This record gives sequence, structure tokens and C-alpha cells, in this order.
Amino acid sequence: MCRHLAYLGPPVTLRSLLYDPPHSLVRQSWAPRDMRGGGTVNVDGFGVGWYPGTGRPGGDDGRGGDPVRYRRAGPIWSDPTLPELAGVTTSGAVLAAVRSATVGMPVQESAAAPFAEGRWLFSHNGVVRGWPDSVVELAGGLPVRDLVTLDAPTDSALLWALVRHRLRAGASLAGAVTTTVREVAAAAPGSRLNLLLTDGVSVVASVWGHALSVRADDGTAWLASEPVDDAPGWREVPDRRWVRAGPDGVHVGELE
Ligand code: GLN
Repeated sequence: MCRHLAYLGPPVTLRSLLYDPPHSLVRQSWAPRDMRGGGTVNVDGFGVGWYPGTGRPGGDDGRGGDPVRYRRAGPIWSDPTLPELAGVTTSGAVLAAVRSATVGMPVQESAAAPFAEGRWLFSHNGVVRGWPDSVVELAGGLPVRDLVTLDAPTDSALLWALVRHRLRAGASLAGAVTTTVREVAAAAPGSRLNLLLTDGVSVVASVWGHALSVRADDGTAWLASEPVDDAPGWREVPDRRWVRAGPDGVHVGELE
């Protein structure tokens, strides 16, 4: 069920993140190793979001800016454009995902992560049990305009609306992710809520029902559903934790 990854570090090509590693995200789309909770392949869309310039908004080269996205509704491996685009595009902050749609949810480009607003990029790996009825009350806390302009009629799009509502109100990345996971988990027990959120400077992930690994060294951080290679330093994050990686290193906290 979906695989996602985030990279922060020196600018590199999207190709070196998405295609080149032995267990790259592209490979994970057809040969994932750890698909807890069902699904065999991730063919129902993909997306990559990257921050132009250094990848640091307001970075010292003055080129950092809001992220750009490339998304499609089909399998990543058959996209004719992405290989060339990825070969010439460099960034120091990237969030990418491949999607395996939950049964009953539509396959369309706007349902593929990353979801975005301003400097934020967001992805969800998992499912909200009993959606939408189980979370009607939580959704009721959102402005009506957020509900009628949801990116897609999916659980992930609603999670993004809940997270974004908190970010707009001034919450930190970690605050927005942890509060949303706790509330949704209470309202919809049995949900799988691996969220991934970045502002181009830091990245925060939750681990709730699916796999997540982290690798951080020499000013570089990776958070990924599955390690992309056999490099030493990958650590699997235990379930029910949240992780933040950024300029101040890696922090892991409890979700319950
Ligand atoms: N439930 C979400 C969707 O259908 C995410 C699916 C997943 O993690 N496989 O888009």
C-alpha cells in the first residue's frame, strides 16, 4: 500500500533518488518488500515534489522557493517523461510517492501524493478505517470551503486537509502530524497512518501501521517506507513513533 520517501541534503538529481538506487522507489512500485495490510504493487499513480534551487526556502543562494510537482495517475515505470525530467532536475529537498489505491477510492492524478500548499508537501501511506463515516466529526471541524475543495474523494486527501488546517493555524510540522494521527486513530481504530510532511527544511513522518526507515549522515537525511539500498545506517523506526529530520539531526518521539 503505497510507498513514499523524502530526501533532504545537498542538491542531487531526481534520477539519483527515484531510479538509480538498487531498491529505488521505481523498483518499489512493482517489487515492494514490505506491503503490510494488503496490496501487491503500486500502480495507481505517483508523484514527486521538489524544491527548486538549493531546496532550502529562502536559502542563501536566493533561489529557494515553493515546491514544484509532477504527478500522474498511472504506474511510475511507464511514464515516458519522468526519466528525462529526473535526469536534469536537481534539488536538495524532495518528497515522492507511488500509490496503490485503497479499494473503492478513485484512481486519478489529484489523488496521488504529494499533496501541496505553499511550501508544504504531504503524503499518506495507509488507510482510514470506516472512511468517511468514521471521521465525519473530525471533518466537521474544517471550514466548509476546505471540504468542497478537497483534492480528491479519498481518505488521504481528507488527512491532508486536517493537517493543512493545523499548519495554517501555525502548528509545527510535528504538531500537525502527531495531533492528526492521534485524533484519527481514536476516531477510526485499526487505521494505518504513515504520514510524511516537509517544508523543504525539515521532514516529519509518523509510523502507525506501516514500515518506515530513516538514514541520516553528513547533512543528508532519508525517510522512506523501505530502504532504497544496502548502505549502512538505515534504521527501521518502530511502530507508533514520529520522526523529525532536519538541520538539528534526527529526533524520534512516541505517538502513544
Ligand atoms: N488510502 C490511500 C489511497 O487510496 C493511500 C493508499 C495506500 O497507502 N496504499 O490513496
